[in-house]
Amino acid sequence: QLPTVAIIGRPNVGKSTLFNRLVGKRLALVDDQPGVTRDRREGEAHLLDLDFRVIDTAGYEDEDAATLPGRMRTQTEAAVRDADVALFLIDARAGITPLDEEIARWLRVSETPVVLVANKAEGRAGEAGVIEALALGMGDPVQLSAEHGEGVADLFEALLPHC
Ligand code: GDP
Ligand code: MG
Repeated sequence: QLPTVAIIGRPNVGKSTLFNRLVGKRLALVDDQPGVTRDRREGEAHLLDLDFRVIDTAGYEDEDAATLPGRMRTQTEAAVRDADVALFLIDARAGITPLDEEIARWLRVSETPVVLVANKAEGRAGEAGVIEALALGMGDPVQLSAEHGEGVADLFEALLPHC
């Protein structure tokens, strides 16, 4: 049984881009069933020496963004509960938003270990967002560019204790 990694975060932070990079051609399934599994994609990931199951959540994307949407409390919550580790993505270029803070509050009380990832951190455009992310109280974020494949070794090191 492979360890399970759930990718979570608000819309547009790069969750699916990271999922696609991790899974490559091994995409197992695109699930369009209604209910809690809707928009949830699972695949088998390979990252340097690690093999794990990865789940791409889209739990926030259907409902109003002003509050933590209802679907978060079903699909994403279930994915995080069942995972060995959650990758919490923020957008280093956009900085921390109220929805990021709300997700962080919820993650802090969940039992699943969390790895904070500042995505879109290629170049220097992400520096301010990385510093903002420290205020989430979840430690130093892994600086990643899912799109350009930078920071992959740091992501590997952060996942290693959990996989
Ligand atoms: P999701 O909504 O969290 O699944 O985000 P997506 O994976 O759909 O990505 C949202 C947008 O961010 C897309 O336009 C991506 O091309 C872009 N994106 C994802 N990763 C990166 C990155 O590392 N750097 C930059 N600059 N853009 C990225
Ligand atoms: Mg997505």
